[in-house]
Amino acid sequence: MRKQSNNILLLIKFLSLHYLLVLSAAQDFDFFYFVQQWPGSYCDTNQGCCYPGTGKPASDFGIHGLWPNRNDGSYPSNCDSSNPFDASKISDLMSQMKSEWPTLSCPSNDGLKFWGHEWDKHGTCSESVLDQHSYFSTALGLKTNINLLQALENAGIHPDGSEYSLTSIKDAIKEASGYTPWIQCNTDSSGNSQLYQVYLCVDSSGSSFVECPVFPHGSCGASIEFPSF
Ligand code: 5GP
Ligand code: 5GP
Repeated sequence: MRKQSNNILLLIKFLSLHYLLVLSAAQDFDFFYFVQQWPGSYCDTNQGCCYPGTGKPASDFGIHGLWPNRNDGSYPSNCDSSNPFDASKISDLMSQMKSEWPTLSCPSNDGLKFWGHEWDKHGTCSESVLDQHSYFSTALGLKTNINLLQALENAGIHPDGSEYSLTSIKDAIKEASGYTPWIQCNTDSSGNSQLYQVYLCVDSSGSSFVECPVFPHGSCGASIEFPSF
């Protein structure tokens, strides 16, 4: 009798451990934010910018990140220190990474630090769905599916330092992508609110844009500057 209950206890322990292991590997997010940044609005803030040997990035939106997020607005981060960024896993993507996901930070570097930061902080939280190579190739693929600058230019919105209504910017991106974006502003050195980042939502497999289940917090003015770069 005693032996039997010990065995049952052991079985319960084993099953709970197994359950916990499965839970920890399971995905802990509901969708992704795909975030692109306007270099003009990063560089004219106090962050400054300087460019590596490869020169100034194109006057175009660049990828900031692909961030797993939960429907309640919270998000996991730094999920697996045992799977650190390894540039050799994305060597075939390097030239595209440099043009589509350039770092703007100063002192300048080749982008590996920025990509490593994004993988370690965000990518590891979706590793059950996208391994390192798929994580970066998925983001690059999403960028080719929505050309933000083209969408804005088509609506007469140009990076010329003038002001545009927030509504016209959102409408132009919705027209081109089919989905409502979220716009994040920052302020230039004279305190003007300007177009900094564009968020679009992507389903949890990283395959298609979806309407955002929840938007981040923060707001822009009704009219915002689109600085040149
Ligand atoms: P900031 O405070 O500049 O908006 O964001 C700082 C960093 O926190 C971002 O670059 C990103 O790594 C993370 N972050 C901020 N807001 C969100 C969010 O709503 N979802 C996710 N997944 N990450 C976020
Ligand atoms: P996040 O805000 O995604 O958590 O972190 C961004 C980190 O990457 C910051 O430490 C920032 O200094 C660095 N970083 C390097 N290059 C860039 C860039 O081009 N844009 C932004 N937003 N951050 C960059």
